[in-house]
Amino acid sequence: MTPERLFHELLGLGLNWEVTESRFDAAGGTVHLEIQETSRLWDSLRCPRDGGLVYCYDHTDVLTWRHLNVFQHRCEITCRLPRGKCRQCGHIFRVRPPWEGLSMHFTKEFEAFALCLMREMPMAKVAEVVGESDMRLWRMLFKHVDGAYAQADFGNVCCVGVDEMSVHKGQEYLSVFADLVAKRVIFATEGHGKETWARFGQALEAHQGHRHALTQVSMDMSAAYESGVKENCRNAQVVFDKFHLLANASQKVDQVRRAELRLGGPGVWEALHKSQWLWRKNPENLRLEEQVRLAKIQEKNLCTTKAYQMRLVLQDIYRSPDVTVAKRRFKIWCRWVRWVARFYKWVFSPMVKMAQTVEDHLAGILAHWKWGLTNAFMEGLNSVFSAVKRKARGYRSSVYLITMLYLVAGKLRLPHV
Ligand SMILES: [Zn+2]
Repeated sequence: MTPERLFHELLGLGLNWEVTESRFDAAGGTVHLEIQETSRLWDSLRCPRDGGLVYCYDHTDVLTWRHLNVFQHRCEITCRLPRGKCRQCGHIFRVRPPWEGLSMHFTKEFEAFALCLMREMPMAKVAEVVGESDMRLWRMLFKHVDGAYAQADFGNVCCVGVDEMSVHKGQEYLSVFADLVAKRVIFATEGHGKETWARFGQALEAHQGHRHALTQVSMDMSAAYESGVKENCRNAQVVFDKFHLLANASQKVDQVRRAELRLGGPGVWEALHKSQWLWRKNPENLRLEEQVRLAKIQEKNLCTTKAYQMRLVLQDIYRSPDVTVAKRRFKIWCRWVRWVARFYKWVFSPMVKMAQTVEDHLAGILAHWKWGLTNAFMEGLNSVFSAVKRKARGYRSSVYLITMLYLVAGKLRLPHV
């Protein structure tokens, strides 16, 4: 078997194409495969417009496609692609070869391989590993993701979660919409105001879904998102999700800690300085030395300790068996916070604000019990966001981030063919 014949078999070229030359350029470390069409191609080819018979009109210049490596060596396919002309309508077209991927520079197999790498590592690293320019790889990714996204079906979407992702030092935001049942990201757009909901509605309708088909929407307590839902989705019940509420409470605990540090007092500095990580965790997740430190701090009877207990109780309310119990406990919690705060109003003001927030949003918070919505996917979105930012590091435009988000969390059919 000649090397040309061997490569012909390996590439699965069939009867319409043949490898006319294969050579190894030792200096460049590259395997070159030259391919030509056979005369049989014209028997099977038809005009893309009207299905008429075609004949060979001319050939393009020499084109090159990057293929998978042969052993450890770069492999390139070169071909002067034939152009066909229709006998009926005279239409002239470039013949699409079976190896060509969605981008002009790569073969299908190379694209599939590069897409695998893109799921695993940052784009800059992929470019380095495969020895291609990052912009070429991005363009290839855009084509696959855009193509697959255009065919995505949102017909069953009824439970949606929305969250914001900071793009650049928290000054720009993307709003990310997820299907909580299928556990996939279905839409992302710039901004974090209520106008994002109008755009999301349009995206749903462009993919066989409908904005009024949404029955529940999980989100943080953002007024903008809430009014976006009210204006766009008349059947949706807003659920303020547990994850955001507790994260919010954790922030408030830290604000109390900082206020208490500023206020000062005997032993306050030693106890609270650089202790912020302690208060963010749950007691059962603390390491031994952290437990020791926390126990020492708790002897001192500080406001921060009280605020931490408030957060833990709030968290415990979510274990309530039903909505009646939960409602009663939330109300008791709010009264308790205000009662404790009556002496140290300034230090506790973040917790009082939290109590006010809970009261103002109680219906949406209690919807958690009615719908039994799992927030696990919402919570997981945060780690998805940081993975996406890591992969698209160095590319700030939201187009790159959104495309990477769809690749990582969109559950699209990729590679798109
Ligand atoms: Zn034709």
